[in-house]
Amino acid sequence: MKEHEFVCQDCGQQIEVNEPVQQAILENGCPVCSAPASPDDFS
Ligand SMILES: [Zn+2]
Repeated sequence: MKEHEFVCQDCGQQIEVNEPVQQAILENGCPVCSAPASPDDFS
């Protein structure tokens, strides 16, 4: 299972995400501050 880490460019929140959550964040933005996320924000 491939895990990714999302780092919000706006609030700096780091969140470990799986594929479905990554897709949700790309669609809906940061879960903490709702800032738009780009694929570059995932490692
Ligand atoms: Zn954020």
